[in-house]
Amino acid sequence: MRRSLVVANWKMHGSLNENQNWIKNFKSADLNKLASIDIAICPSYVYLAQMQQSLLDKINPHLSLGTQDVSSNTNGAYTGQVSISMIKDFSINYVILGHSERRALCFEDDELVANKAAVVLAAGLNPIVCLGESLEERETNKTHQVIQRQLQAVLDVLKKTDGTSLTNLVIAYEPIWAIGTGLTASAEQAQEVHGLIRAQLTTELSAAAAQSIRIIYGGSVKPNNAHELFNQSDIDGGLIGGASLDAGLFLEICMAAQ
Ligand code: PEP
Repeated sequence: MRRSLVVANWKMHGSLNENQNWIKNFKSADLNKLASIDIAICPSYVYLAQMQQSLLDKINPHLSLGTQDVSSNTNGAYTGQVSISMIKDFSINYVILGHSERRALCFEDDELVANKAAVVLAAGLNPIVCLGESLEERETNKTHQVIQRQLQAVLDVLKKTDGTSLTNLVIAYEPIWAIGTGLTASAEQAQEVHGLIRAQLTTELSAAAAQSIRIIYGGSVKPNNAHELFNQSDIDGGLIGGASLDAGLFLEICMAAQ
């Protein structure tokens, strides 16, 4: 049985003050009610220490932290990059990889995303690998082709990696046209792609692995559409951008994932 996972992607938002307020509002809720799901907050790297100190506690082990990227290099002369061992200095469980903003703005390709996923899995953490088609690709019926290509690139690399637990892999289907636009894939559209991803995981890995890997949906998830999306058989939670900046909205979305 897969545990639902709801992830907050704060992108380049937040400040020490804003984060502290968010944590106060978030923790004023009874988080025990959310004990049946996993929740991860992914702030900017520079706030990891603050978040670790103020957000994490032993009472809510289902609540954890993640980052929005990692370097594929282990250490050395890579100005501005952050390595997996630096990330592991903090209590981090998840690393978002291949977000469409990084693919578009930082020119990350399938191969780099796949190599980063291998680095994260080898470190014993959970990579959240983002896949998604553009509006043009959807309108020209290329959605399946794009998703299959992006996923295959990751699986080809991971299958060659020894001793890594592929069940730690998380896939996030994020149609680019739905990110930050207010447009959401309908529950049927999302389920169709999630089903396709699960089928590919079955063929490439095994039925058991495919059944345990979580596939979450991202793209303008809000309290009013979360329930229907999360109710689909192959949708195991969400990756939440804009709505995660408001602790109240994010809590409502988490509630919908139970
Ligand atoms: C995202 O950036 O991963 C995302 C899903 O953003 P939003 O929820 O704002 O569409």
